[in-house]
Amino acid sequence: MAHDSRIVTCTGPQDPHAFDGIPLLPRSGALDRVCPLCAGHGQWNVEIDLASQRSKRCLCGKCDGRGWIETGDDPVPSPDIECAPGEAPRWITRLAPSDDRDPDAAD
Ligand SMILES: [Zn+2]
Repeated sequence: MAHDSRIVTCTGPQDPHAFDGIPLLPRSGALDRVCPLCAGHGQWNVEIDLASQRSKRCLCGKCDGRGWIETGDDPVPSPDIECAPGEAPRWITRLAPSDDRDPDAAD
């Protein structure tokens, strides 16, 4: 049976339906500021069917899907895969300096 579909595409997080159905992310760890690109959602719709609410989403490259950015010197956790010879690859959390450090921010 055919069902209604009203598919809209979003070119980016500024589009009207970009955040439909996507909750705001809670602050995790010591991250400092809501991501200016995804406004704390961590991802947005690139395509959404307004009838069924099914969507295709993309991860925010600014905050790597965390929804929050670090502007100070605290390291930022990112999921990564570690491979050691003779062992199965495994997920690890890598800590790295933030790309968004603000030299004017006072701690
Ligand atoms: Zn973001």
